[in-house]
This record gives sequence, structure tokens and C-alpha cells, in this order.
Amino acid sequence: MALMRDDSKLDPLEARRRQVADAFAPGGALARAVAGFVPRSSQRDMALAVFDAIVERGTLVAEAGTGTGKTFAYLVPSLLAGGRVLVSVGTKTLQDQIFDKDLRIVSGALGTQTDAVLLKGRQNYICLHRLERAAGDGLHETREAAAHLRHIERFARATVSGDRAEVSTVPEAAGIWHAVTSTRDNCLGADCPRFEPCFVYRARRRALAAQVVVVNHHLFLADMALRDEHFGELLPTVDTVVLDEAHHLPRIGNEFFGEGWSLAQVTELAADALASGLHAARDGAPWVDLTRSLEHAGREVRVNLAQAGLAAGSKVALDRLSEPAAVADALAALQQRAEQLNAALEQNAGRDPELDLLVPRVERLRAQIQDWRQATAASAGVARGQTAKPASAGVANGQPPEAGVARGQTAKPAPASAGAAGDAVVRWISTSVSGAQFRATPLSVSDSFVRARQRVAQAWILTSATLTVASRFDAFLGEIGLEATTRRWDSPFDFRQQALLYLPDPMPSPNSEHFAEDVADAAWPVICASGGRAFVLCATLKAVARVAARLEQHMERSGTRFPLLIQGRGTRRNLLQTYRNATGAVLVGSISFWEGIDVRGEALSLVVIDKLPFAPPDDPLVEARVRALRSQGRNPFVEYQLPQAVTLLKQGAGRLIRDEHDRGVLMILDGRLLSKSYGRIVMDSLPPFALTRDESVARGFFRGS
Ligand code: SF4
Repeated sequence: MALMRDDSKLDPLEARRRQVADAFAPGGALARAVAGFVPRSSQRDMALAVFDAIVERGTLVAEAGTGTGKTFAYLVPSLLAGGRVLVSVGTKTLQDQIFDKDLRIVSGALGTQTDAVLLKGRQNYICLHRLERAAGDGLHETREAAAHLRHIERFARATVSGDRAEVSTVPEAAGIWHAVTSTRDNCLGADCPRFEPCFVYRARRRALAAQVVVVNHHLFLADMALRDEHFGELLPTVDTVVLDEAHHLPRIGNEFFGEGWSLAQVTELAADALASGLHAARDGAPWVDLTRSLEHAGREVRVNLAQAGLAAGSKVALDRLSEPAAVADALAALQQRAEQLNAALEQNAGRDPELDLLVPRVERLRAQIQDWRQATAASAGVARGQTAKPASAGVANGQPPEAGVARGQTAKPAPASAGAAGDAVVRWISTSVSGAQFRATPLSVSDSFVRARQRVAQAWILTSATLTVASRFDAFLGEIGLEATTRRWDSPFDFRQQALLYLPDPMPSPNSEHFAEDVADAAWPVICASGGRAFVLCATLKAVARVAARLEQHMERSGTRFPLLIQGRGTRRNLLQTYRNATGAVLVGSISFWEGIDVRGEALSLVVIDKLPFAPPDDPLVEARVRALRSQGRNPFVEYQLPQAVTLLKQGAGRLIRDEHDRGVLMILDGRLLSKSYGRIVMDSLPPFALTRDESVARGFFRGS
């Protein structure tokens, strides 16, 4: 009936708004074009809220529970409102889904031609100039490197996109990629002899002309922070910005807005200086000696960090580093080597543009090393003079927050955001087997978002399935600092019918020494009842190994075997593929398996969560933010640690019910859910599951499924 209505007398804006609503109606554009489309009022309402925000150039922060269909709910109004649209997402899975599928479906349904581009970071495209250099410099002579180089050369001659993801014959981790891709440091930009056919710039030019550009949050933030001076900005050229999976933004923003350098950068600089020096100024300096001694000094820094107790995978705040004096000495030696290389480059100035480009790069790195040397030496002075130990983050003393923000209201962020501590940064070091990163991370990213939001009149839509804690947006708004209209829509799924939340009685204590084994013991009967088909999600990697080992014991003793897939024994992608292909598999994984995974139907019928995923209190950033909030007289647990854990818990729980036909049991084994006052907030943040404490009821759920 809606299609017969005469909208010709409506003002154009109202007519568009009706078009948006009609697209989601029974018999509307989407119902006609998409097989199995189910009209949902929440999806239509979200689309109208997005349309209104676009028209008003406002900021909408929208939480839409699983199954709302939020990508259609923002793509339809974005396309119908006209103008250019930037869609940024947190995961590759969603990026591919939007670009390869959803945009095509929505455009087809609306009968529009949409010029859309998927734009990636520059390291994803072959750099033609560096490829030519690498092919001619004779430095890639191992049989494997030479073969990789030949494959990439062949690809570069045939490709239109230059996207390295299309090169299936060279592994993602192959060392050659560094030599044939660019960074903002080594790109020659407009001075490059291959500027015209350059894949990176072509992709960027296409994006600047397209109607819809899909990017990931890293690229969005790089653009927002003007991190690549070779490019014009994309952000001010669009009318609508959609930030999906927006719950990732504070974390990625923290990583992004920080400053830092790494030993890998030292190695890459040495490799580039050697290649350019030998190519353009062979007689100009002892390039081999200079670059080798630079690399050696970098390795010495790593050795000193190891002697200070930093094994691979460590993370430590600078003010917690033991032996800072020795590390400062190693940094001084590295700084000296960088200065020697800098001097050689300056002596050869003007001989080659690429060699010249190394001067600001080595100078930047030298300055960062110097800065860290001074900070580390100062820390050594403090360590000698006193033994100040900042209070560590406790997670058990929080109080519940005040009453919530009503739906659909304009919400202001907390007066000072949860992380706000002026421009404070925390310095920290992380290590891998042979590398190390030196980072200075801001305690708050809100100023950066506020500045970017204010620069241009455009609409910003921030959305995710997990933005609230007990229906309140305060924590998220506090993190990003934006004033926004907030809306939330519950999942349309019938959780009371489709799912069961099982909290065993008694619950194992997370403080117990054998908590991991207790988790496996409690989960085993339910796993047997569900016939495998289970994810066991652990808050830590350590727990993964122990829970998996105990489950293996149960299988051996009982003779009941399920394919057991364990994080660390294969890549994430391979494990998920094997899980999907196997019958009745059990996957045991840590944080990386809590989100971004979509296993529909019976293949996933049980999700076991060992405990509330609080970030480790000794993580340098967590510790610094907790300290900063305490010093402001605020409650870091309520404002920061609990919201983070709840968001992740909601993501983990969200793996279970993916559509209206899914059924399953969510089992959580953390007694704090019932014994602590904040347990109520956690429970109120979960979808409205039917609840049982009775194991036989949980096992009985699977009868007939
Ligand atoms: S412009 Fe930069 S990325 Fe493009 S080919 Fe030249 S150096 Fe490589």
C-alpha cells in the first residue's frame, strides 16, 4: 500500500525520509530485493535516526543489538540522503562484507548506481619505485627472496589495483614485502618518477572521487590525525561519516595517537640506507659498516631489555623498568650510531632524492631515541633516589554508577572523560622475540575526536552492538568526548526462548589456584550434552592452555571425543575454518576469539566464558589511567575498568545467537557476577536470557536440538 501513496506534495526532505522508511516496509525495496528479508521496526527506526542525523549534520551514537541489521540501517539513508559517505569499520570481516555484499545489495534494492571504493593503508599496495629498486639492487639474492621478487614483479605488470592481498604466491609474512611497499617515511610523493602510475596514489585519487569509501579504523584515524603528509585528507571531503564497530575506537585511538618507535624501524632504516647508499653514492661513505653497526646497537638494546627481565611478549611502563641505567646506556650507543649515519647522509646530500629522504627519517628516529634515552636515564635517577610504587589497579572495590541516560536524549560526555588527565601520556616498552617498541600513549583520545569532529560540518554516525553498560552510554561518550544524540535498540531475537544463561551452582572462584581446571570440570557435562559445538572463551592465554589440557583429560577418561581446537595451534583463520568444517568441535580461545566471529546455526550451540574479562591491572596503560582517575578523585573501576570488561563480555556472549533460528546456552563461571555489587550491572548489560543455576536444565536444553 505504501507504494501507491502520492508523495509528490511532500517537501523533498520529507519525501526522502518516507523513502527511507518505505525501503524497510513489508513489500518495500529491501523485501523485494533480498530473499528472506524480515521487516523490523528497530531497523527502520535506526535508519530514520541516521537519516535525521545526516540532514542535521549531527552526531548519532547508536547501539543496535545483534540482528538489528545495522549495516542496511545506515547504508540506505546514507545513499538516499545523497552526498559522499565514508564508512569506517574495526574488522576486516565487516569491511569485506560491506564492500563485497551489503553495498551491492542496498544499491540494487534502491535502484541506484553507487560508485564505491575500498581504500586500504599504503602498506597494502605495491610501491612501483621501491620494487624497481629492489629488483636492481642485488640485495635480495636468497633463492626464496629472488623467487618472491619475481612473483611480485609479474603481478605488478598485470594488476590494476596493486593490492598485495591478490598475490597468493608470496606469504603475508615474507621479508620481501618491506622492500616493495612504502611507508610515509620513504615515499617520494610527487617527486617520485613513478608517481603517475603509483598504485597508492591512484587508490587515494579514486577514493577522493567516489561516492562511498570504505576504510578501516586505522586508516580513518591516520587521515583524521593527518598522519601521512603526502596525502590530502579524505575526512573533510565527505558529508557523512559512519563509524561501525565504534566500540573499537577508543582502544585503536590510544594505539594510534601515541608516539613511538621500534627496533624494527632501526633495522628497516639500516636496510634502506644500505640499499640507497650503495645504489646512489657507493663511494660516499662506508655504508656497510655504518648500517651494520646501527643494527648491532639496536640488538644490544634488546639484549639489555632481556637482562632487565623483559621476555618476548612483555609490556612494562618505563617507571617500572628494572635496570633502567643499563638500558639508557644502550640507547645512548644507538643514538650515537644514528648520528654517524646521519652525518654520512648529510655529506652526500643532493646526490639522490631517495638518499636525501633518509635524512629527515634518521633525524626523527635519532630524536626519538634521544628522548627515550633521557627519559630512561631520568627514570634510573628516580629509581636510585626512591622506591615510589604507584598503587595498582584493584577491580573488586567498585560501586555501581548513578541512574542511566534516557533513550534518545542528547548526551554529554562526563565533565572530564574517563581517561582525561590533561595531555598526560604513559611511556611503556613492549618486546617480541627479537624486537621492542617504545611507546608514549595518551591517557585520553577525546580531544583528538572533538577537534576532528569540529573541523567540518558533517554528520557522524557511531554504531556498534556494544556501546552501553546497563543501557548507559556514559563510559563510551566519556572515552571519545563527543556530545551526541544517543539511541539504542535491543536485539530483535527472542533470547528467553532461544537461549539460556547457565550460572553453575556453586560457581568456581576466579581466585582459586585451580580455577581453570574447575572451569573445564563444570563445562564438560554441558559440552557432552551439546555434542561439542562449543566455544570456550577464556580471559587469558594462560587459561586457554590449562582449560584445554583438562578437557583433553576428560575426553581420554570418558572415551567421548570431540575435535578440540586450541588457540596457538594454528592461525585464527585456520582454526575457525576447521571449526566450521568439523562436526561437534570445541574451540578454546582467548580474547581474539571473543568478537568478530559469526558462526550461525547448530555449529555453535554453547558458549562458555570463564570469567569477566577485566584488563590486566598491571598493563601499563590500564595502570596509568587508573592512577590518573584516582588522582582526580574519581572511581576508575566504575568509569573505566568495568565498562571495558562489560563491552568485551557482551561481545563474547554475542557469538551465541546470530539469527532468529539459533538456539544455545551461554555458561558463565565467574562467581563475582552474583557475589559482587557490580554483578547486577553486568547482568543488566546482557540480553534478557532465560536463567538457570541447574546443570540438568542446562543439559536438557539440548534435548531435541
Ligand atoms: S609515489 Fe611513493 S608509493 Fe608511489 S611509487 Fe613512488 S615511492 Fe612508491
